[in-house]
Amino acid sequence: MKILSVNAGSSSLKFTLIDMPAQVTIASGLFEKIGISDSFYTIKYNGEKIRKEVALPDHAAAVKELMRELIDLKIISSFAEIEGVGHRLVHGGPDFTETVILNDEVIAKLEENIDLAPLHNPGSITGMKAFMSVLPNVVQTVVFDTAFHSTMEKTEYLYPVPYEWYEKYKVRKYGFHGTSHRFINKTISEYLKRDDLKIISCHIGNGGSVTAIDSGRVVDTSMGFTPLAGIMMGTRSGDIDASILEYVSKKTGESLSELTNDLNKKSGLLGISGISSDSRDVEAAAKEGNERAILAQKMYASKIANYIAMYNNLLGGADVICLTAGVGENSSHMREMIIERIASLGVKIDPAKNDFRGEFRLITASDSTIPVYVVPTNEELMIAIDTMELALKNK
Ligand code: AMP
Repeated sequence: MKILSVNAGSSSLKFTLIDMPAQVTIASGLFEKIGISDSFYTIKYNGEKIRKEVALPDHAAAVKELMRELIDLKIISSFAEIEGVGHRLVHGGPDFTETVILNDEVIAKLEENIDLAPLHNPGSITGMKAFMSVLPNVVQTVVFDTAFHSTMEKTEYLYPVPYEWYEKYKVRKYGFHGTSHRFINKTISEYLKRDDLKIISCHIGNGGSVTAIDSGRVVDTSMGFTPLAGIMMGTRSGDIDASILEYVSKKTGESLSELTNDLNKKSGLLGISGISSDSRDVEAAAKEGNERAILAQKMYASKIANYIAMYNNLLGGADVICLTAGVGENSSHMREMIIERIASLGVKIDPAKNDFRGEFRLITASDSTIPVYVVPTNEELMIAIDTMELALKNK
């Protein structure tokens, strides 16, 4: 069966068409600048890539264009071949603890909680509505980035702030990247043939989060009420002292939302290095001796290592550490820097085993106390797996 895995933003729509249960990607692509001028799309299939500029006044226009292309390119012969559409949603709020079938009731609930994720959710909801109107008879699902983290206990998900903030305004840790961490949990548990593993899953890409998992249940995760918290990221600060905001605001006259934007978009690797949010650029500058790039890399590695050490304690000793996403899968140098910083736990890298990119591999020495694996993530596949399961149940 063919399943579409969809990730819609406010002006973009990314899709992957996957043949299930074979788990083979048939086509993928991206519609950009929807609702803005100069919109265009790219579609990759059969080793080819097409790019077209076309007016896309709204998400529904993009969905119609996508379906037309799938037919024209003979990727499908009729709409009926699409047996499920899975939508990624960043924030499910406190109500959604697993993937659900999309319907009007779900949309209403998501809209109720839209102020929890004003930057991310509106675009995704628009995408869902567009698919519902173009493919009204196809089973559609919503896969939440927050859902996997819903097993956290209050001791972990509450902030030590006035309790009414939680009761009245739903202020708590939600956690993100849940679909990726769930995929890592599934992949490593199947590989090691155990369902009782204590896993520290490190999703290190442009965004980044570390998650402590015990027997398939999330115990704690580094992102918080929003994806701003936790480790240092490409452009996000991660954890900081909240009083900095008032102090800097008084100095610069910037508003709270401007400063929050600085923390989201101008901090992290970019803020410290002053060069780029892309770890490849920072790595290249560090190699040439740029001091701020070297500093940025050291800080980046330390923050991740500190979370790993903290979660090792929380889990009462981890069985396995997994590194994933753009940096975790591809940067052997950053992997080495992180593992050097958890030497006190007895974790030892094997440099010969670490010299590769983008594959599932063990990178630690045989006498390392905790094995470290690089596990390529695949959120689109996880979405397709959930959607296939729900589509089959609803047949
Ligand atoms: P993601 O958000 O998972 O797509 O990850 C994006 C990040 O992965 C960017 O910071 C990239 O610089 C980083 N990345 C991708 N490939 C490499 C590579 N070969 N070496 C170092 N970092 C990489």
